[in-house]
Amino acid sequence: MKDLIKADKNYILNTYARFPVEIVSGKGAVCVDNNGKKYIDMGSGIGVNAFGYADEVWQKAVSEQAGKLQHTSNLYYTEPQVVLAKKLCEKTGMDKVFFANSGAESNECAIKVARKYAELNKGAKYYNIITLKNSFHGRTLTTLSATGQDVFHKHFNPLTGGFLYATANDIKSVEKLIKKNKCAGIMLEMVQGEGGVNPLSIEFVKGVKALCEKHNLVLIIDEVQTGNGRCGTLYSYMQFGIEPDVITTAKGLGGGLPIGACIVNKRVSEVLTYGMHGSTFGGNPVACAGAITVIDRLNEKFLEKVKEKSALIFETLSKKDGIESITGLGLMIGIKTVKPAKEVVLKCIENGVLCLTAKDKVRLLPPLNIDMKSLKSALKVIENACK
Ligand SMILES: *Cc1c(COP(=O)(O)O)cnc(C)c1O
Repeated sequence: MKDLIKADKNYILNTYARFPVEIVSGKGAVCVDNNGKKYIDMGSGIGVNAFGYADEVWQKAVSEQAGKLQHTSNLYYTEPQVVLAKKLCEKTGMDKVFFANSGAESNECAIKVARKYAELNKGAKYYNIITLKNSFHGRTLTTLSATGQDVFHKHFNPLTGGFLYATANDIKSVEKLIKKNKCAGIMLEMVQGEGGVNPLSIEFVKGVKALCEKHNLVLIIDEVQTGNGRCGTLYSYMQFGIEPDVITTAKGLGGGLPIGACIVNKRVSEVLTYGMHGSTFGGNPVACAGAITVIDRLNEKFLEKVKEKSALIFETLSKKDGIESITGLGLMIGIKTVKPAKEVVLKCIENGVLCLTAKDKVRLLPPLNIDMKSLKSALKVIENACK
């Protein structure tokens, strides 16, 4: 299409600040724009293309499924959905799965589970959900409310009520909210992604778990960004020595197709019953077929490599000119740069590397299977852009 950028501005709601790049195709960690210029993609569509562009295993499974059965609705049984749910349960020790189409929707399901569980066990007044300041849980009116950042709340009041915000790594702030309010659950990201790639401390997470047990609260771990191998384990909570009641995930799960999951343990798996929740597209067979190829490959050996690549990024970028600090876990990395993050990202684009930002940081979420050569070249470009 001629004048695509102009037409985009004319016809697409102006809710995104897009970078000036039109991507037309990709293979592995590399994508190509409309002028034939190549970029190493260190953002993988915000952590969605877990195995890069046009991954052959994924592509085969998805196209075969699309040619066989693309959709049925949830009025009927379909195999890909059940196979994927069984794998997710077996690999996490959880009990059951609800499939949605996005991170926000997966969180909506988790919030409903927590509220109904509290109603059944403690009474309808116990509806409050504690989340953290600086968190991000989605864009629907309820998940916006769960998001502990005022900037997202402005203009859209009244939001869904019943959300309280504690301070990350301050267990007293959580305890205080529980004592003063009637609570149903606590929802946390192990690494605050949109909030600037800040991991929680293990001590804090264990403290939250203990409070959940003491006060019969549902512990929801939002693994939308951190999950599916991104942090070096299948789910990031696995590195924090706790077991959640509910895991929500999306982004990388489908390897590029929209799918979300709300995975629940035995304690809460019978809470939602017939007619209480649903989704027309949820558990779509094509998205599930893609997700199966992602989950199947996230074994110990593969995850070790994710950790090795993570270590390489930390080593390469530590103590370099123009870089103040590096935070993150696995292949979810935040770089505090001396220059404004946006300026660094634009410089990287010029030199053929795509990066993301998170708050005032440059954020990296490369494909999990990025080859060492591409990774090293991208790091060189990033290093130079920070100077
Ligand atoms: C991206 C994100 C969401 C929202 O996911 P959508 O698919 O955009 O609805 C929720 N929680 C976290 C932690 C995220 O990173």
